[in-house]
Amino acid sequence: MNELLQLGITEILESLRAREFSAEELTRAYLERIGETEARVHAYLSVLEDEAIGAARAADRKIGAGDDDSPLLGVPVAVKDLLCMRGTKTTCASRFLENFKAPYDATAVARLKDAGAVILGKLNMDEFAMGSSCEQSAFGPTHNPWNLKTIPGGSSGGSAAAVAARSCVVSLGSDTGGSIRQPAACCGVVGMKPTYGRISRYGLIAFASSLDQIGPFAKNIRDAAILLGAVSGHDPRDSTSADEPVPDYTKNLEAGVRGLKIGIPEEYFIEGMDPEVEAAIQKAIAVFEEQGAETLEISLPHTEYALPVYYILAPAEASSNLARYDGVRFGVRQEGESAYGSLFGMYAASRENGFGDEVKRRIMLGTYALSSGYYDAFYTKAQRVRTLICRDFMTAFEEVDVVLSATAPTPAFEIGERLADPISMYLSDILTIPCNLAGLPGISQPCGFTSRGLPIGLQLVGKPFAEKTILQAAAAFERATTHHEALPPL
Ligand code: GLN
Repeated sequence: MNELLQLGITEILESLRAREFSAEELTRAYLERIGETEARVHAYLSVLEDEAIGAARAADRKIGAGDDDSPLLGVPVAVKDLLCMRGTKTTCASRFLENFKAPYDATAVARLKDAGAVILGKLNMDEFAMGSSCEQSAFGPTHNPWNLKTIPGGSSGGSAAAVAARSCVVSLGSDTGGSIRQPAACCGVVGMKPTYGRISRYGLIAFASSLDQIGPFAKNIRDAAILLGAVSGHDPRDSTSADEPVPDYTKNLEAGVRGLKIGIPEEYFIEGMDPEVEAAIQKAIAVFEEQGAETLEISLPHTEYALPVYYILAPAEASSNLARYDGVRFGVRQEGESAYGSLFGMYAASRENGFGDEVKRRIMLGTYALSSGYYDAFYTKAQRVRTLICRDFMTAFEEVDVVLSATAPTPAFEIGERLADPISMYLSDILTIPCNLAGLPGISQPCGFTSRGLPIGLQLVGKPFAEKTILQAAAAFERATTHHEALPPL
């Protein structure tokens, strides 16, 4: 593999300034890598070759003029295909949006461009971000670079697989119930879901608005911290974006964990957890202790309700967010006689043909939960239990600084294995969903491999806006271990 593909952001910026290679050369190396790996991995839904070369040349001109302090200047990145990027297809991996070209940039995309990044393309995902395996993409699954027969996780499977395959330096994904952390765990990379409100969601195609959050994927903690800093911050175009200062997330990454209090929730060692995953987590706990952290057992007593609460609230919000896809204002209209029997017939035919099975399942679940007579029994009750789940965390954080667990109960499974059984698919997110319900920041980082060579992920969850604390802790673990250095046999 071309050694340029191994460099992190800091090394890239230094090398570009030292004229060791140009941004255009680096971008071409990545485009070549995409050409080499995509037939097997299928992480990308579109590759923006001309735009990328144009952005790389612009970066080279800036470097030539000494105007070289942008945080991602000349760095090849890629974004999940639910972030609008002006003039490019933004499909959400759905037939319904197959021909949708975004008329504007999402704020996160605009910030990448302002930071000097070179956007290589748009990444595969489960349709409308509903799924845990990337198999629900209307354009075919992404394959895990560690084992092409297995799933890369989801829904941001393309974002995780592209970083693992070294076909971009870093990427952006989104996480509603685990869609950044779980694929990061499956693909052996770092993935972070920041605090709800940390990154503007203007231009992110909505799934469940009270849960969705954009976040970074990277091959190491420092790169994740740099990307997070570049896209975070208040945005008047997103009323849920927080007006909180953005610290320098790379500062004090070496601070270590001495004195840090790490809570281990007893409820997170669930039945059906893979023994190799559990063993890797126990080893990780020992590493943190050796580094000077204090670990203690805690209880998050309402954990068992998180999955059912999520599968009421997320589909309820989705059924409302997806009502706009009617084949008139948005989406591919179903043509033909039968479709135009009536206005309603046209809506129905367009939705019937445009959406995949999982999306339809969510719309039905959500519509049911919101319908009169059931609203109080399901939706209102789920909201109440959500509050209890938030309180569990707040109580725990009176005692500890971060909460540690596995990211997912099992490593990546085989493509096709869970497709016919939605409940077993939903269980992939049992350890990541509570963090979304509580709006907290969470990170997944590599912490080992199974005997079959599949990556295992470790999750750290922090207090609201304590991204720095979890990045510091994760960086200490990274320095003490070598899991992040392994390369997939691609
Ligand atoms: N797998 C979960 C779901 O299907 C989470 C998805 C996500 O975080 N976008 O809802």
